[in-house]
Amino acid sequence: MSIAKNIEAIEERMVQACLRCGRKREEITLMGVTKFQPVEAVDEAWKAGLRCFGESRVQEAAAKFENFREEHPGTELRLIGALQRNKAKLAASLFDCVDCVDRESLAAELAKHAAARNGPLPLLLEFRTGEDSKSGFTDLDDLFRTVELILSCPSLNIRGLMTIAPNTREDKVLRAAFRSLVKVRQELERRFPAEGRWNCLSMGMSGDFETAIEEGSTLLRVGTAIFGERI
Ligand SMILES: *Cc1c(COP(=O)(O)O)cnc(C)c1O
Repeated sequence: MSIAKNIEAIEERMVQACLRCGRKREEITLMGVTKFQPVEAVDEAWKAGLRCFGESRVQEAAAKFENFREEHPGTELRLIGALQRNKAKLAASLFDCVDCVDRESLAAELAKHAAARNGPLPLLLEFRTGEDSKSGFTDLDDLFRTVELILSCPSLNIRGLMTIAPNTREDKVLRAAFRSLVKVRQELERRFPAEGRWNCLSMGMSGDFETAIEEGSTLLRVGTAIFGERI
């Protein structure tokens, strides 16, 4: 299977999932997760129409995307993997969005470095909905405190939430995880209301993106179903 064919097949499955739950395909962005994939694979996905890419390591993303982005204006690059403090500076300048903010100290570090950007750094807050994931907020009060900090930083801009669901095929377990993220969003909307602030819900990967669409996802992170197994 080629990357273009894989993307086409995913597009079709996205459309079908949207039909099942009365949503529009345009409400949802398909991110290609390109970690451990060569830049040639990114290029193939771009030619097939993909514009949004996710990487889990800062240095790998820098090496792969710095030239690529210059040659492909309109590329959106997002950080989806655990971010260490000492990489926050590079991350704040490199990424269009940091999707994996999972602690207050990291938000503070990003705020410092994001001041040098051209405009505020978009962020997603990561919430843990499954035991398999080691990252993400687990405590709501922690999460609320971090939101307050971010809202006090003009260099940061909250866009929504992300989660990694439990690694299972069990529909009930997956739906419960996605619904718990939707509930967290409702609570945040109530406490910190603002137009557009909580629009983005990043949930759904290769194994569960159709269920995620049915539960309200707006941003899918798909790696292996597009690019094959990671080498
Ligand atoms: C690797 C990764 C993905 C993609 O996973 P696939 O199962 O290959 O689609 C999505 N989200 C995060 C946070 C990842 O690290």
